[in-house]
Amino acid sequence: MVQARIGERLGLAPATVSEGVKRLVTEGYVEIRGARDVELTEKGHLIAEALVRRHRLAERMLTDILGMAWHLCHEQAEDWEKVMTPEVEEAILAKLEGEPTCPHGNPIPGTSSGIPWSSLEPVAALDAGAGGVLTRLLEDVELDHDVLKFLEEHGLMPGSHLTVMDTAPDGTILLEVQRAGTNPARVALGRNLADNLWVLPAL
Ligand SMILES: [Zn+2]
Repeated sequence: MVQARIGERLGLAPATVSEGVKRLVTEGYVEIRGARDVELTEKGHLIAEALVRRHRLAERMLTDILGMAWHLCHEQAEDWEKVMTPEVEEAILAKLEGEPTCPHGNPIPGTSSGIPWSSLEPVAALDAGAGGVLTRLLEDVELDHDVLKFLEEHGLMPGSHLTVMDTAPDGTILLEVQRAGTNPARVALGRNLADNLWVLPAL
């Protein structure tokens, strides 16, 4: 990942990013490839994977066990991921059924959860009349509280059935959303959000 993108993602100034990256290089967690590309070393990868696993398990704990709103679990999990021990990870997994993904549909590293990318398509790529089950929301949508709140309010969470009703000339997509236990509802999505929502197309 290039340093500019890291800064954008974390909301940090370029100088702060390059200082942080330098420290991670000294400690052996990342390497600089080429001009500005930052890559995880094996040691860095192991730590990153553990953090992602704890983050996603914390999200499930907050939604499934504590009953917290779906749109709040990502920001709340950011603290939990730093303090979770392997014993707590195991205890959460034991409470969840089957092979859980995170509440946004992303696989939990170290488990065999999640449907492979090759079977999924972004909503933005579907033609009118096509649809499927909303399966994964890319991590980018998790960064924006208002986006998450909007998605939850309109039932745009994993498990909902989506059908593309029409696409406007500017790329806006009109969807019908069917969520178990609720009436079908319509919602319009811009290109950017529609690119971040991936469905398992209906055959
Ligand atoms: Zn998250």
